[in-house]
Amino acid sequence: MPTVYCAEDLAQGGGIFRGLMLDGKPCPARLSVFGDPIAHSKSPQLHNAALSKREHGLQYVRIRVAPEELQQALENLAEADFLGTNLTIPHKQAALSLVEAISPEARLMQAINTVAVRDGKLHGFNTDGPGFAAAIHEEFGVELGSLRVLILGGGGGAGRAITVQCAIAGCPLVFVANRTVEKAELLSEDIEQSLGKVITPISLAPEALKNALACVDLIVNATPLGMKESDPSPLSEGLLNKNHLLYDSVYSGGETSLQRQALQSGARYVNGLSMLLHQGALAYEIWFNEPAPLETMRKALKMAMP
Ligand code: NAP
Repeated sequence: MPTVYCAEDLAQGGGIFRGLMLDGKPCPARLSVFGDPIAHSKSPQLHNAALSKREHGLQYVRIRVAPEELQQALENLAEADFLGTNLTIPHKQAALSLVEAISPEARLMQAINTVAVRDGKLHGFNTDGPGFAAAIHEEFGVELGSLRVLILGGGGGAGRAITVQCAIAGCPLVFVANRTVEKAELLSEDIEQSLGKVITPISLAPEALKNALACVDLIVNATPLGMKESDPSPLSEGLLNKNHLLYDSVYSGGETSLQRQALQSGARYVNGLSMLLHQGALAYEIWFNEPAPLETMRKALKMAMP
């Protein structure tokens, strides 16, 4: 069972974190991930490998923070001498109103996954979107901005960040599909107003997907379908072809139904591990203002996966 701290541990100066040791040497925790649940998070393995490689003499811990504890936990970060924290489910949206400054991208993505404490003030960022763009470049050897894209599940946190990133990157054609189509429509309006880019909202109905799939290069699954082994694919059979690239943001382990469809159709496909890696590396760069030791983090992430 991995070590999980609680929000109360951050109170009164976070003494428990200041006194932590590693390999017999003082190694205070000054970075964390807040979530609920949080025991499953691989972020400590990813970041502790980087912190150790660069000899920062500090560590990164999991802290279980319930929704009603988020405000106080964020307020306690500075006094506990933390450099920042990552945020995961269910805090990414709620944190928007709890930090003092928000990057323009995070505001448009309506989610914060990285908080940096600077001069005692909380600054919010979103590295999921840029992490996705870096993952596409690494996995497929192309710039995101050169691709025509269909995002499945654009109404969720990851889907919204990915869709905004596609607009920022200048993708020539973007379809955003969502089960609740109204959310895709609202997102498309927000992007048009803020960035002046046209994004086409569609439903997940097979006919709408078929038409979109006929004119895109990249399909991104940002629904949770695939997290459970028994999950169906978000796409009907026979819609993918060998020219498609598939980025399945699910990274929980085995091959998903959607990935099997890609294999059968000859499409190139990858799971979401590279996005997880790059969003972490970008968070490191926000905290330390230096390039992240990417290969060290990649190795640690691979080792942390079942
Ligand atoms: P979320 O906020 O709960 O969003 C879920 C999205 O999927 C919504 O658009 C929702 O549509 C749709 N959806 C949910 N169940 C569905 C179903 N049965 N059929 C069709 N659509 C469905 O979740 P999230 O945090 O964005 O995570 C989504 C996925 O991204 C997960 O698989 C997660 O593991 C992955 N993710 C990966 C990374 C990475 O670094 N690789 C980072 C973050 C998330 P409605 O709007 O209609 O409800």
